[in-house]
Amino acid sequence: MTRVLVTGATGFIAAHAIADLLAQGYDVRGTVRSRQKALQDAALARLPGAERLELVEADLLRDNSFDKPAQGCDAVFHMASPYIVNVKDPQRDLVDPAVNGTLNVLNAAAKAGSVKRVVLTSSMAAISDEPPADHALTERDWNHKSTLKRNPYYFSKTEAEKAAWRFMEEAKPGFDLVVINPFLTIGPSYTRSLNESNKMLADMTKGVYPGVLALAWGFVDVRDVARAHVLALETSDAYGRYICSGDILSMRQTLAALRTALPNAKLPRFPLDNSYGTTFVKLVSFTQPAGIGSYLRSHLGRRLSYDNGKIRRELKLTFRPAKAAIADAVADLVKWGHIKA
Ligand code: NDP
Repeated sequence: MTRVLVTGATGFIAAHAIADLLAQGYDVRGTVRSRQKALQDAALARLPGAERLELVEADLLRDNSFDKPAQGCDAVFHMASPYIVNVKDPQRDLVDPAVNGTLNVLNAAAKAGSVKRVVLTSSMAAISDEPPADHALTERDWNHKSTLKRNPYYFSKTEAEKAAWRFMEEAKPGFDLVVINPFLTIGPSYTRSLNESNKMLADMTKGVYPGVLALAWGFVDVRDVARAHVLALETSDAYGRYICSGDILSMRQTLAALRTALPNAKLPRFPLDNSYGTTFVKLVSFTQPAGIGSYLRSHLGRRLSYDNGKIRRELKLTFRPAKAAIADAVADLVKWGHIKA
């Protein structure tokens, strides 16, 4: 495999995947919505090996848009998808680009004839909406709860991944599909643009949270997510889905890591990570924008647990510790001026 098509090349994770691919000697064709904007930003053009990177335009919402970009490619990383928590119209702004875009890209890969593997960036959101009380999540779990009203971003990722597996079953294309399901992806960004996941850390330093909430997240460094995609491409017997996330930290533990990285930050202290706090915040959640409100109601007070053994065993991926990933993310947020040191 020599030429890899990466959709959404301007994205936070995609830029790292491209950097990793170029470092391994691949030729990369990245799709962007606006070539002019991508070239102005110049972050991709400065990557080592960028002479092997070509940028072409394509839009998830335009039928056949990826047909030409896919021609002559040996593999595809389908990473483009809107990652936004609050939207006006979840069907138009999230589900349509996620699902139709995935089908457009898979159709294009099938028509190209040269593609042997598609690696799809799905999400932990396609595995679970609210963490179950009775077991650790594995690749066998599917999110059955999200809807257009309840965690619509989660719904878009679930529907897109389901559509991809359905396509594989029905169209029986000449390539195989491997899916990466990352959790909260943080770390250094190649551009000033503030990604939703790094923004969550920035928000904790800016008084957005009223106190320490009963929330927990699985953390994964963006460079490990990029590596997971390259390993999924290079491991010939890789198959199915891969949970891609390292340590789980509660909000209290996340704040402790932030305090170490950013000793002068004013971080939330008021303890709401107890049953009274959870009841109170669930009530307050109805005053929040719809996306945040439904996230809070479905996640507050739930125990989170998952098994990342499949990716560690089969792709030999190792995860940076969450605390180190948080420290690197914080340094980057300061560097780009999103938060003060
Ligand atoms: P970004 O917001 O940084 O990147 C999203 C990319 O999708 C951008 O390049 C954007 O292009 C592109 N895109 C959005 N809508 C369209 C469209 N209509 N047509 C073409 N391209 C479009 O997000 P991330 O890098 O964080 O996410 C990348 C992938 O990883 C997504 O699939 C996301 O769901 C998934 N993911 C992310 C996680 C995280 O914590 N960050 C966790 C799990 C999964 P443009 O620059 O033109 O806007």
